Amino acid sequence: MPDIIKLLPDSVANQIAAGEVIQRPASVVKELMENSVDAAGKYIRVIIKDSGSSLVQVIDDGTGMSETDCRLSFERHATSKINTAEDLFAISTKGFRGEALASIAAVAMVEIKSCLRESEIGTTVKINGSKVELQEPASCPPGTNIAVKNLFYNVPARRKFLKTPATEMRHIINEFHKIVLAHPDIRFSMHHNEKELFNLPVANMRQRIMAVFGKNMNQNLINIDTVTSLVKISGFIGKPEHARKTFGEQFFFINNRYMRHPYLHKAVMEAYDNILPPEAIPSYFIFLHADPATIDVNIHPTKTEVKFENERMIWQILHASVRESLGKFNIVPSLDFDNEGIIDIPPPGKEPAGIPRIDIDSDYNPFRDEDNYKDLKRDFERKRDSNLSGWDRLYAGLDTPESKSIIPEREYDDKTHPAASMGFEKMFQVKSKYIICSVKSGLMIIDQKRAHERILYEKFIEALQSDSVVAQKSLFPKTLELDQADLALLSEIEEEIKNCGFDVRYLGNNTISINSQPSASMNEDPVEMLEIILEEYKSTEKEPGESNREKIAACMSRAAAVPYGRTLDIAEIRELVDKLFQCANPNYTPSGKAIISIITLEELEKRLR
Ligand code: ADP
Ligand code: MG
Repeated sequence: MPDIIKLLPDSVANQIAAGEVIQRPASVVKELMENSVDAAGKYIRVIIKDSGSSLVQVIDDGTGMSETDCRLSFERHATSKINTAEDLFAISTKGFRGEALASIAAVAMVEIKSCLRESEIGTTVKINGSKVELQEPASCPPGTNIAVKNLFYNVPARRKFLKTPATEMRHIINEFHKIVLAHPDIRFSMHHNEKELFNLPVANMRQRIMAVFGKNMNQNLINIDTVTSLVKISGFIGKPEHARKTFGEQFFFINNRYMRHPYLHKAVMEAYDNILPPEAIPSYFIFLHADPATIDVNIHPTKTEVKFENERMIWQILHASVRESLGKFNIVPSLDFDNEGIIDIPPPGKEPAGIPRIDIDSDYNPFRDEDNYKDLKRDFERKRDSNLSGWDRLYAGLDTPESKSIIPEREYDDKTHPAASMGFEKMFQVKSKYIICSVKSGLMIIDQKRAHERILYEKFIEALQSDSVVAQKSLFPKTLELDQADLALLSEIEEEIKNCGFDVRYLGNNTISINSQPSASMNEDPVEMLEIILEEYKSTEKEPGESNREKIAACMSRAAAVPYGRTLDIAEIRELVDKLFQCANPNYTPSGKAIISIITLEELEKRLR
């Protein structure tokens, strides 16, 4: 057999490498902006056309490149940033792999103009799909100007994988945020289709955050500041009451480079333990500085994941630092969302509530007759009515094993519809999250939020087919400002969400008003609802076979569903369960999560064996 192994031509190798580094227009924005920062640009301009699919251009006033460097910069592993393997352990620049430009040039049409600061004349190079088309002297201002056109023009499969323009633009803006937040000392601007999206003057950190996220951010920010020999921590964390239910304003930077760090994210979240509304995620902008020799930024090709030598210690320090700041601003003791109405904090002067007490009849025999049941039920209802606000306090005791039988089991005929088999008097809510009811086969647990999601989903689907949803008009429409990316996203789904009862108006100047909400919504905050809709819409992939309408209905239902942490009264519990079992598919949420689980009698028996 003849030899069959051959070396791939550079253009092919680069295209393969490009798959790792350049996934979408946003990756080009990131790489080019990082190069401009590394080249000590003081003013960096980003110009985008058609969400980056026709143009990503970055212009800087940095060091510029010589004629030879201009050409060499497109070779793979061509970098000016490291010389030896040791340098890998002391990286202070954004780039160092020398892969970005080669990768970009393999999958796009690139035109670069660059001029060294002290030079009279610069260079222009044109490369299409790794092929150099032109290289000649050019007159241009000092610095570098790179235009990347028609990304993936020669890789149709990749082009097909791009998401909607609004989603791609959202990714671009996310990358832009990560870089501009790390460098308030650099001026940045961004234009999309000739429209200015950002113009960020040189500023301090707090001003930069406000310039990016809006002035309202100012009152939300608390300083954090801790210096240890291992790590220096600075930046801002958000007040718990401003925390939103969606990701988006959580930033870690290590030595001024953005990083993702799920483990350290937990340190922050745990520091907020008990003071956040359910499911909320606080904003944070946290800058860590550590000796480059103690971190490894090399574990991921796009370099957003970082490994620390002393990860556990850093976790502890960060946790303490966040805790301390929250404490300093008197936030920790003043808020307590976790009592969920189970333990009432008495007004001053009254006796402390102590542990909720349940009266248990120790002589009680659950296997006695029906009359006994009726007595108990009456007794129970009396207690409940005399203390309506605290009725779930009464139920709280049902968690304890000895009181489980306070309402005795009765046989139901559940041959028919499952809902028919439930005694409503035997339902209650646990932890403002689950609804528990006794059914013939055991204990049924219903996830309240998922149940409501399912109910709303089927309702919205129907509405989208028939234009029949009842909307609740707001007397005082909420107005809010959205960034360009969210506005574009909103216009994509506006029609459908309106059909579901969520009506928005454009007031100009990036401002919209929310005039109505679906009447069945149990999320009372329309602004939060909109945030969740947009977030869900851009972050969830369509399921195979799912139509866009179905996807929007699913997003809407997630945004409008009753949140965890909401205490439901008995009438609401009944309605929820009733409606759930009228659904075509009461068992699963639109995204396939289980709504119902049953603990069988056998399992119950096993537990007490
Ligand atoms: P890396 O940033 O990992 O070194 P790149 O492919 O991004 O690799 O860039 C290759 C080289 O091109 C850089 O090391 C740098 O010397 C040069 N370069 C790229 N962009 C610029 C720029 N905007 N200004 C000056 N030099 C640049
Ligand atoms: Mg680079």
